[in-house]
Amino acid sequence: MSRPTAAVVGSGIAGMTSAYLLQRRYDVTVFEANGYLGGNADTQDAVLPDGTRSAVDVAFMAYGDTYPNLKRLLSELHVESKPASIQHDLVCAGCGFTHLGSTPFGDGVIPGKPDGVEPAVWERFVSELERFSADLAEASEAASSASIASFLADHGYSDYFFQHFIYPRVGPWWLNGPDSVRAMSLEFLLSTAHKHALLKPDAFATWKVTAGGSRTYLTKIAEGLSEVLPANRVREVRRVSDGVVIRDTSDVIRPFDRAVLAVHPPTLLELLSDATPRERELLGVFGYRPMEVTLHTDLSVFPETGRPHSGFSMRLDCRNPDPRLRGFDIDASIVQRIDSPTPLIVSYNGADEVAPAHHLTRSTYEHPVNTPEVFEAQKSLPDLNDDRLAFAGAWFGSGLHEDGCASGAAAAEALGAPWD
Ligand SMILES: Cc1cc2nc3c(=O)[nH]c(=O)nc-3n(C[C@H](O)[C@H](O)[C@H](O)COP(=O)(O)OP(=O)(O)OC[C@H]3O[C@@H](n4cnc5c(N)ncnc54)[C@H](O)[C@@H]3O)c2cc1C
Repeated sequence: MSRPTAAVVGSGIAGMTSAYLLQRRYDVTVFEANGYLGGNADTQDAVLPDGTRSAVDVAFMAYGDTYPNLKRLLSELHVESKPASIQHDLVCAGCGFTHLGSTPFGDGVIPGKPDGVEPAVWERFVSELERFSADLAEASEAASSASIASFLADHGYSDYFFQHFIYPRVGPWWLNGPDSVRAMSLEFLLSTAHKHALLKPDAFATWKVTAGGSRTYLTKIAEGLSEVLPANRVREVRRVSDGVVIRDTSDVIRPFDRAVLAVHPPTLLELLSDATPRERELLGVFGYRPMEVTLHTDLSVFPETGRPHSGFSMRLDCRNPDPRLRGFDIDASIVQRIDSPTPLIVSYNGADEVAPAHHLTRSTYEHPVNTPEVFEAQKSLPDLNDDRLAFAGAWFGSGLHEDGCASGAAAAEALGAPWD
């Protein structure tokens, strides 16, 4: 007797986790719009002029002990990991603010006063740093619909504090520019920080990267599936009485018994022609912005600090702030411990700052804007899954890889393929 069928639309970590679990019970077909599998789990080949080739994760890179689903997936697939090097440099060209070698969320150390800052501004900044943890703890006790901007305004924080502490810590982590960071839900930020213990000084001590990049686990999952269709952008998904039909990139209509939609909510609403009013209401609040990522070898992006740069580097200019997340550069050969004759650098939204001769690859991803409305809508997302059609994506949670993996497992479970 033939097995029932399941379609998975979208091959990011969410879709591929679903596919991995569903294949135990269904013949699974994965549809992926891109020519490669993985979405934000994107391992690219950096080919240097001397022919040296290295596999580099240019978007998703690192995970921690607070990622139980991802760790389980990697363990079951026998994928090896190695320790990530996660240290953060912060330099402001506007006032000279410099904080080198800290954890991404700061290490409690107060750097020296920059020459370009008035003493009164600096004294206020130091006092704001000193009271910030207590104010945050108080706010976390009261469930609140505040944005980061309203929290900072209500507690009298300065713009200098936002620009030199909040934005450079939060922006790179959630891929948001200053305005999107201001609009972020405070409760969302706090729940993620607690879940991943991000504010602890040793938070990143146990973080890892996969040896060979995300490609290793994606390939292993794909090898076990019935059918994998890259470069196939699904055009429509519709529920029918005995399952789901999918109109693929060539307008071929294929029936499936079950389906998981693992694309971002705006795409999901475009695809799902019979979306219910409840689905439209909940999914309609999610917004995304594009972000460009350049892989290159131009070391001049790192500021001159008199010491070797850390894996992560943030350049600001408080006198001329950029509305986008820009000036954030990652030395992937440090973070991912890649043995390369030349540093392999990943820069966000900064292609024009990189000398053309140093360009290796350019890609664009989408990042979510986590407003209070999104955080509220997320609480009802699990209700949307039924036993025929389920949804998955990192947008079910904090937007991190673990959230994608966990939501993929939950979608598979809703369709009768639990992990255990
Ligand atoms: C630059 C960057 C760096 C990051 N770094 C980290 C990190 O270090 N650690 C961490 O935990 N998280 C990180 N994240 C976040 C995390 O990796 C992602 O949010 C997560 O991988 C998203 O997985 P997903 O499956 O939900 O979505 P995606 O990976 O976006 O997958 C969705 C897939 O659906 C496909 N698709 C869309 N429309 C269609 C269609 N019509 N038909 C078929 N397919 C379609 C897309 O092409 C895509 O492949 C990073 C994200 C980015 C962008």
